[in-house]
Amino acid sequence: MISDSLPLDTPPAKLAHDLRIAIDGARCWHERCAQLAQPGALDRFLARAARTVPFYRAEIAPNNSTKGFTLKDFPPIDRSHLEHHSSAFISEDPSTPCVQRRRTGGTTRPALEVHRDAGGWHASDPLMYEWIASRYETVRRELSDGDLLAVHAHNYLYWRNESVIHANLHQAHVRIRRIGRSPRADRALIAELMQLRIPVLSAKPSCLRNIIQLSELIGDGQVRVSPTLVACGGETLYEDERTALEQSFGCPVGNFYLSAEAGFLAGECPYREGLHLVPHVARVLVRRPDGELCEEGTGELVITNLANWHTVLINYRTGDHVRLEHVSCPCGYSGPTIRELPGREPIAFPTSSGCVSTQDLSAIVSEFPVAHHQITKRSDGSYAFRWAADAECANLVDVARLLEKALRAKLGAYETLHMEYVSYGDFVAAPGAKMWRYRIEPQ
Ligand SMILES: [Zn+2]
Repeated sequence: MISDSLPLDTPPAKLAHDLRIAIDGARCWHERCAQLAQPGALDRFLARAARTVPFYRAEIAPNNSTKGFTLKDFPPIDRSHLEHHSSAFISEDPSTPCVQRRRTGGTTRPALEVHRDAGGWHASDPLMYEWIASRYETVRRELSDGDLLAVHAHNYLYWRNESVIHANLHQAHVRIRRIGRSPRADRALIAELMQLRIPVLSAKPSCLRNIIQLSELIGDGQVRVSPTLVACGGETLYEDERTALEQSFGCPVGNFYLSAEAGFLAGECPYREGLHLVPHVARVLVRRPDGELCEEGTGELVITNLANWHTVLINYRTGDHVRLEHVSCPCGYSGPTIRELPGREPIAFPTSSGCVSTQDLSAIVSEFPVAHHQITKRSDGSYAFRWAADAECANLVDVARLLEKALRAKLGAYETLHMEYVSYGDFVAAPGAKMWRYRIEPQ
């Protein structure tokens, strides 16, 4: 049943088309899970890839035509392979046709296009909301037939405002909304959010900050957008930022790992013991600095996506840095878990007096009225600190002086530090881009 809360932002023909994909996707995913739970499932997946995917047929099959394959037979690949040869990773197996072309990025690097079959489609956003509903009782209680499940706010140029019905969760719907289109559209969006009971608000942390700032402007300093859970993904979620978001929205903020390449990979459990890998979606490994692929440890996350059988990615280097462990969690989960997710950012800066963790630097900055900051270790070895004050900052000169003193004390007397004050608007990411805090320029 579709209730009156479904907005008229999506043509009925598209709603019907999407609903068909959602029903097929849920069925395909549950069949796929049963297959992946069988012994030898990974071997069969790899053999199919070597047979039906042009890149792997050319790379692997000629040398191994008479034996089975293991993950070690497959060379690590990365984003540049997909940017330049995405069609070579598309399976020619007619039983797994494409239902969605997911295009992403394109702001600072060439755009990425990943094609999903029905199972791969389901194992992205629908699976994330299913996972949230299974673990967050407060969210589950709010779901009802045809009602609002979530609002997904984003800053991508090319996504339309529309609604997607989730066949697996009471035919509830997700409203997709772009923020940053124009001041007028943003005001209309905040007014819409203020009227809704929102079980899940999902967005990158930078989009959530935008929503808070706009909401405070409209609501006389109050944030009147009240989700039951905030689901962050797509950017690094810093702990001090999580605390600030929880205070503003008055609800828990969870961290989730989704990408076009991986789909929904891992979700943070309510016990905050890390991000648990979702069963069956992928095999995950860590690539250590010496290039060795390991089951646990600290390094670059490498995935073999088992959920999507159309664009087939095996030993795919995500570019995200993680600490991966196998855990038994109080929530009942047992398996691979991302314990730390600094993503694309360094976790420490090397200084002449030892390493300084970025978390320690964040803790220092959080003592000051700072809206956003970035620290770059430049190629000449000096540090650049760019920052913008928040609205509560009464004495900019004093704050700047004390902040510089605290940062110099942490980095050590031998480091050169350049302070640069900018307006918050200078930090606002271009459409589709990610916000960041810490960066080390190549030497
Ligand atoms: Zn847990």
